Amino acid sequence: MLADLGITERNCELEDLDGVYFVRMPTTDPRLDGLIAALNKLPFDPPWSLRIEVEYDRSDLESCEFVALDVNRAPKGDTGLAYGTEYDLSTGCPECGTGARQISALRINASALPKKARIMRTYNSDILIDHELANDLMIELRSDRGLRQVEDRRSHKPLPWWQILPDTYMPPVDPSTGLRTEDQCPRCRRNGFYGREDQRPIEYTYRMSKRDRSTLPDFVYTWEHGGFSSLKTPAGLCRQPCSGGRPYKQPCDANPLGQEHPGP
Ligand SMILES: [Zn+2]
Repeated sequence: MLADLGITERNCELEDLDGVYFVRMPTTDPRLDGLIAALNKLPFDPPWSLRIEVEYDRSDLESCEFVALDVNRAPKGDTGLAYGTEYDLSTGCPECGTGARQISALRINASALPKKARIMRTYNSDILIDHELANDLMIELRSDRGLRQVEDRRSHKPLPWWQILPDTYMPPVDPSTGLRTEDQCPRCRRNGFYGREDQRPIEYTYRMSKRDRSTLPDFVYTWEHGGFSSLKTPAGLCRQPCSGGRPYKQPCDANPLGQEHPGP
């Protein structure tokens, strides 16, 4: 089929990983529409999927006041309410817990921390960086800058990793950001946010005055939380594998209760 469409290894990026095929081409490639039409006619199970990546150059990035932080490594490490980290549940939604403030250091098994990587995401979508990365980024390792040192789950001794833990939330995104929602908490409607319907990467858009923007700290959370959360079921309080991420000059996922799906 690829050959019929003129797509070959010589003029396209093709990869075969144990029978899973990847084709990478610019969205301006005239063969793309034909490829999508041909794929739609074939009975794939599981279905084929499309991912659109945007390549930003330096000037694109320099015009952004904040960038979204995401970690594309597989998540690791149980954290959250059921694993010893403390939260003030009175500050979250009484129905689902979304938005509850973390009031202790993040507690995690030291064995879950990577040996080589310098940034990681836990199953609960907490984002951690090591000392070296913090130094390279010239981020001051101070709790009032949105960073908090993590602790060993059992001994509560500090570990050489820091959690990105902002104390500031952005306002809700402008609807033009195009986030998809699903199974939102009927009370707060603040969880259950997912990526865009059209598979494009999320570009968060806000309407904020210059003055409000100038007071934002280095790291902030999005108001929107990815995935599902619940205070009513045991599963909602314990480990929920998740690879969801968030943005801004920081992350997001101030959802201590765990999330089942990737979120914005
Ligand atoms: Zn809620």
